[in-house]
Amino acid sequence: MSERILLSSPHMGGSEQKYINEAFETNWIAPLGPNVDGFERELADYVGIKDAAAVSSGTAAIDLALNLLGVGVGDTVFCSTLTFIASANPIVYRGATPVFIDSEFDTWNMSPQALERALVEADAEGGLPKAVIIVNLLGQSAKMDELMEICNRYDVAMVEDAAESLGSTYKGKKSGTFGKYGIYSFNGNKIITTSGGGMLVSNDIDALKHARFLATQARDAAKHYQHSLVGYNYRLSNVLAGIGRGQLEVLDDRVAQKRAIFSRYEEALGSIAGVTMMPELEDTYSNRWLSALLLDPEKISISPYDLIDALNEENIEARPVWKPLHLQPVFEGCKFYAHGEDEVVSEVLFERGISLPSDSKMTVEQQERVIKVLLDKLK
Ligand SMILES: *Cc1c(COP(=O)(O)O)cnc(C)c1O
Repeated sequence: MSERILLSSPHMGGSEQKYINEAFETNWIAPLGPNVDGFERELADYVGIKDAAAVSSGTAAIDLALNLLGVGVGDTVFCSTLTFIASANPIVYRGATPVFIDSEFDTWNMSPQALERALVEADAEGGLPKAVIIVNLLGQSAKMDELMEICNRYDVAMVEDAAESLGSTYKGKKSGTFGKYGIYSFNGNKIITTSGGGMLVSNDIDALKHARFLATQARDAAKHYQHSLVGYNYRLSNVLAGIGRGQLEVLDDRVAQKRAIFSRYEEALGSIAGVTMMPELEDTYSNRWLSALLLDPEKISISPYDLIDALNEENIEARPVWKPLHLQPVFEGCKFYAHGEDEVVSEVLFERGISLPSDSKMTVEQQERVIKVLLDKLK
């Protein structure tokens, strides 16, 4: 059997070990230390924001962002529906209620018209959300100008879930820097990884100082152990931050590699009737974390699930696009605002979408193996 081709797997750059060795040589085997400080500074500089706090996961970063915004019991938080469950779970950790907002076709991300309808209705009912979590799916930025204008009009804070879009830009500005808070993930499958980790970013330096305090068990400045708030153990290990520093050095290479992978798929498959490649909105630059496409059931006879199985038989990993959160059993009964009266875009994307192998370590020959199966099954 030929070697397995993966969706997206860790891809070390070479200098990660150097930073890890430094941690060992200085015995900084702790949550905090020079690699954590360096990783925070280097990432903040890379995305062009004032401050960054390294944490144990992207999920922890979202939880801290909601905590800083005062989200609590009885509040609602709006969230993109077409995303990984971790975007919304922290809403529930805070004791608040999620409300899900549909996608639109230009970006597959939050629909401005659905968000507007949801805010108009919430305002009329006297219950504006405490925050709106906007996801940039598979690397593609949401329509930030339109969405931010609506959030600002209602004075609702935006948290940008850029877990999948590190290195992407919207009108020249780095993804993750548009909201009051932005978050990144360094989970093993993301464009760069620390094996597990995340980052909370903001231009509000005092808020991030408080985030670091909360993330290290909220220990008061006293000689003994004293706590006036409930804290968390959310900080990133200095060893893992060393991996992150090495990874950050190759992030732009990874974006270029992922984009080249997408281009090869587009060239080979883009003109097949019934195949639609994931769009890239004008004036945006996607990191193409995962190359995705849609199959029109009226023109393509094989279903996305059967195609995924067929690829799997050839030892090739492919996945459906995220199942919308408003369809998840765990969120049954939560409110949902569709793109149009009779148009639910996220469900169409879910039913028709496939994420193809987008591993930056994949060779051109390996990708040709994938494309051969696809051409065979899609004809
Ligand atoms: C991966 C991911 C997260 C969670 O990040 P972790 O580091 O795994 O906790 C959140 N949101 C989205 C959209 C993701 O893809």
